[in-house]
Amino acid sequence: MAGKDEEICESIQRDMPLFVSGRLSDEEMKDFIRHVKHCKSCQEELMTYDILEYGLKEKKTLTSPDAETVRLIRDYDFQGLMKKQLSDMEAKVRRKEKWERLSLLALGIANIAALAATALMLLEKW
Ligand SMILES: [Zn+2]
Repeated sequence: MAGKDEEICESIQRDMPLFVSGRLSDEEMKDFIRHVKHCKSCQEELMTYDILEYGLKEKKTLTSPDAETVRLIRDYDFQGLMKKQLSDMEAKVRRKEKWERLSLLALGIANIAALAATALMLLEKW
């Protein structure tokens, strides 16, 4: 079992740059978050990644960081930053899924409306 876990951790840790820049697919993002939330060693790894990414370099590539992120980096609260990243990404994936469900629902309603219209037309012909 330990071997399997290590493999998961390895692939999670390989995905960290993609996670941080938001370039994982929704499914990968969910797997990533689910794993890191419960994996101490990946949390530490992500924190180390953040320190390298945001702590050591000059104010850098953060695309429009929010006030909270700026504060966490300024205070060197990388544990806080790591947790915020996880919950931000999670919220983002959730919002997207909710939106997709809504569009599917809208599509379903449109289909039903089209069916109803067809049925009405058929009825009128009778
Ligand atoms: Zn892990």
